[in-house]
Amino acid sequence: PGPAAGQVREAFLRFFQGRHRHRRLPSASVRPRGDPALLFVNAGMNQFKPIFLGTADPRSELARYQRVVNSQKCVRAGGKHNDLEDVGRDTYHHTFFEMLGSWSFGDYFKEEACSMAWELLTKIYEIPQDRLYVTYFGGDSSLGLSADEESRDIWLSLGVCPSHVLPFPLKENFWEMGDTGPCGPCTEIHYDHIGGGRNAAALVNQDNPDVVEIWNLVFMQYDREASGSLRPLPQHHVDTGMGLERLVTILQGKRSNYDTDLFTPILDAIHKGCGGPGYQGLVGKADVKCMNMAYRVVADHVRALSVCIADGVYPGMSGAEVVLRRILRRAVRFCSEVLHAPPGLLASLVPAVVGILGDTYPELRKNEDQIVTIISENEVAFLSSLQRGRRIIDRTLQQMGPSKLFPVEVAWSIYGNLGFPLDLIGLMLEEKGIQLDWEIVNKLAQEDAEKKARSQQTEQLEGSAAQLDVHSLAQLQRDGVPVTNDIPKYAY
Ligand code: ATP
Ligand code: MG
Ligand code: MG
Ligand code: MG
Repeated sequence: PGPAAGQVREAFLRFFQGRHRHRRLPSASVRPRGDPALLFVNAGMNQFKPIFLGTADPRSELARYQRVVNSQKCVRAGGKHNDLEDVGRDTYHHTFFEMLGSWSFGDYFKEEACSMAWELLTKIYEIPQDRLYVTYFGGDSSLGLSADEESRDIWLSLGVCPSHVLPFPLKENFWEMGDTGPCGPCTEIHYDHIGGGRNAAALVNQDNPDVVEIWNLVFMQYDREASGSLRPLPQHHVDTGMGLERLVTILQGKRSNYDTDLFTPILDAIHKGCGGPGYQGLVGKADVKCMNMAYRVVADHVRALSVCIADGVYPGMSGAEVVLRRILRRAVRFCSEVLHAPPGLLASLVPAVVGILGDTYPELRKNEDQIVTIISENEVAFLSSLQRGRRIIDRTLQQMGPSKLFPVEVAWSIYGNLGFPLDLIGLMLEEKGIQLDWEIVNKLAQEDAEKKARSQQTEQLEGSAAQLDVHSLAQLQRDGVPVTNDIPKYAY
């Protein structure tokens, strides 16, 4: 029941393009261009950072944008926005997800932004108003910022019930791209999956699966500088982002993103490859739960791997590539040890991913063979280490007796010598009810990272400085992505 994901995505794009005269742009690559502050593109606004900061070349295409809409491929698996640990444990955080975004660059501001969002959700998608809650920035005295009462009043004037309009502090309602860069107060929309006249206000922003954040409307007004202070931006902008997967879940009447058509073909393909009872959702006994989590992790990770490889980020040894390697190794491990799948399962899921996302992101289809090859090669390379690591872990567990604390030096050597991601070791131990002293492990990891950074710095001094790259129209076309400027008839 409900519209297909493709229709939901298209309705968003057409609403802003057709009805509100936004220019439709394709997704940028997930590999950030010339932005050392980022490992992956983590939000739709990344490619527009120079516009917000006022540094876009005035002769460039970018500087002429006023109203823009797109569906952006995002990865949140490293850096400031890192959701890797939540993936599979919950049903609404992914490493890769699609962010539906709309922007006003120095054009309209808060009032129009809120009213467009409200119109789309309640009139076009027909989400009942009483299921929606909105939040606004409650102010921050240490930064000398007052509460965003303007946004509160706009929501009230749009007819939102006062008990559904809630202030939140900096952590939730002041959006920042990274440790530095564009930022500003935001107002967010949350959805109550249960309804029935109950008051779900207390569950907003509590990481509760019943009340999930869907859309963030950011009012870009500052640049966070390396010193930590906020520099007011020359112009005010609107930057909104809504998670497609979460929206589709609502419109298809589901409770979990994994029960929508963005995931079910991948889950079916996993089932076909490994047999057994198949994916059962969030219910079941402990071991089944573990198997279900494996289904979710593998389905999530194969999407991220496919999208990243298509954009030229391969599993490897530095920066984003390390993160991708971590994702791949986690996926391989869940396939082999929890799903007991034969080797090759992960790569065999790629056609399902391409089937779901290939029309929207043609680079996936174009690079399908390469994605399969890279995943297969990396799987083979890790499988033998995985078996060796598993043997070492099991032997150590036997020697530990009743102790519940795993020796750090063993974990560290599996990480260092066999290339196990640390978080994966943590997961494998957690399944056995064993703990790791993360304070020590994190300290070792920190020292290790600092050592690597120092040697990288020396290397970089010899190379040339990174250029800030403007993501212009020409650039998009060179990447082979179609740029449409025509305004189709407005329709759902
Ligand atoms: P959350 O609080 O749920 O972690 P967020 O506040 O970190 O989300 P934003 O940075 O505000 O997210 O991003 C805008 C929107 O993108 C969110 O409202 C949500 O719908 C979606 N989103 C964010 N992170 C993820 C993710 N890891 N997986 C899927 N969708 C996401
Ligand atoms: Mg988050
Ligand atoms: Mg949030
Ligand atoms: Mg948010």
